[in-house]
Amino acid sequence: MNEYKAVIGLEMHCELKSNAKVFSGAKNAYDVVPNVNVSPVDLGLPGVLPTVNKECVKKALMMSLVLNCTQPEELYFDRKNYYYPDLPKGYQITQMHAPVGINGKIKIDMGDYVKEVLIHDIHLEEDSASLEHYSDASLINYNRAGVPLLELVTEPCFSSAMEAVKFLEYMTLVYKYCDVSDADTKKGQIRCDVNVSIMGKDDKVLGTKVEIKNVNSFANVYEAINYEIKRQSELKMANRYDEVLQETRRFDEESGTTKRMRSKVDAIDYKYFVEPNIPKYKISKEYLQSIKEKIPLLPLERKEKYVGELGLSVKDANIIIKNKDYANYFEECINLGIDAKVAANWLIVQILGFLNKMDISIQDFYLKPELLKQIISSLEEGKISSKQAKEIFNKSISEEKEPKNYITNDNEQISDRDKLLGVITNILENNKEQIKNYFLGKTNLFDYFVGQVMKETKGKANPSLVKVLLNEELLKYKEK
Ligand code: ADP
Ligand code: MG
Repeated sequence: MNEYKAVIGLEMHCELKSNAKVFSGAKNAYDVVPNVNVSPVDLGLPGVLPTVNKECVKKALMMSLVLNCTQPEELYFDRKNYYYPDLPKGYQITQMHAPVGINGKIKIDMGDYVKEVLIHDIHLEEDSASLEHYSDASLINYNRAGVPLLELVTEPCFSSAMEAVKFLEYMTLVYKYCDVSDADTKKGQIRCDVNVSIMGKDDKVLGTKVEIKNVNSFANVYEAINYEIKRQSELKMANRYDEVLQETRRFDEESGTTKRMRSKVDAIDYKYFVEPNIPKYKISKEYLQSIKEKIPLLPLERKEKYVGELGLSVKDANIIIKNKDYANYFEECINLGIDAKVAANWLIVQILGFLNKMDISIQDFYLKPELLKQIISSLEEGKISSKQAKEIFNKSISEEKEPKNYITNDNEQISDRDKLLGVITNILENNKEQIKNYFLGKTNLFDYFVGQVMKETKGKANPSLVKVLLNEELLKYKEK
């Protein structure tokens, strides 16, 4: 029904993980107590000077490399001037002239297809303080002032809400994989602005763009985009497209709609200029190379490897890459020589089942890959049955003792022919009536006999051997 195409561009903010803030020595940490992680620099007191946190620069450059951007030859910052109570200096230190990265691209997985997202730029800046509004007052908390923030600006390259959300989810995962941020959306460590326009299917020029500021969850991003596409399409269809204004809106969660905040005409002139209190730093090729070497395999690259090289199903690969620690656990198993499908199966069914039930993380999980291997090897060598393997798995975790302690000889499967024959003939001798019924057609009694053998051997008999022997012995009764 909709004859228009949607065009979407994103501005994604991510708080970096670091010991100190980006331009001061104050701690970069969340604290329930307001105004404790604050230095005179964060407060913009007169006479103080910023210093650049190298750890933050390194992380910013790493993301620039991950996004296949071009890096500048020199690192420097700009002042973005505006006044707001959460910005005590009256300006934000950011990067406008020479961002840490420009003109990048990254592939994301859309399930049915792989999309290449174009990156306009990625830049390092400082976060503002946070405000809390009450009926009679507003309070300022400077803990967040000066927290390192990476802003990633995409080209207007998304054509649906789903593509935009998949990108945000994927980048959140990439930030975690690269260990540059905890990227916890619930803590506001990821925030984004969404830009939406529509255009006719054959139009050459982009339509009027509406910016929706500070959408606080991916679910809301999805809803806000779809609402905006619908609103703009309806106006265009009714020949009222001139009512779509270049403006800033906000998403109203309650009504699921966007509401006008201000027009672009009222846009502030930020009077950008190069931050004079921070010198320029040369970024050498060697330095970039040393950062590049630390970039881990990205989730999509891992998925391609798991499915293409290791033969996992797409579904299993997706479950494993969803969490960096699952992926690392899985790869440790592979490195120990465990078969990929066997490792994936244990991880997904037993381990994740247990972690979910107990609500603990895999990092706190007792059974490390080398311990899991003890169970898997014994199973493969036929020393234990798969039922026993699961029991040993459970015992080992609950008692925090190595599995090999439970893989003793009296746990071992009975695969000895004579031993099993003895048990089987005994059972058959005592079940003459059942044997008669078996030959009269009650074939499911076979399972009953197997059950008796298992009971007698406390579950240790090798089940496939039991079945073979039982068949042979039963035949003897038929002949009688
Ligand atoms: P502004 O000058 O308003 O900040 P920019 O050109 O810097 O606009 O773009 C900001 C964001 O808006 C980028 O993410 C970009 O991809 C997106 N954008 C630009 N033009 C459009 C458009 N016509 N439709 C949708 N998004 C757009
Ligand atoms: Mg802009």
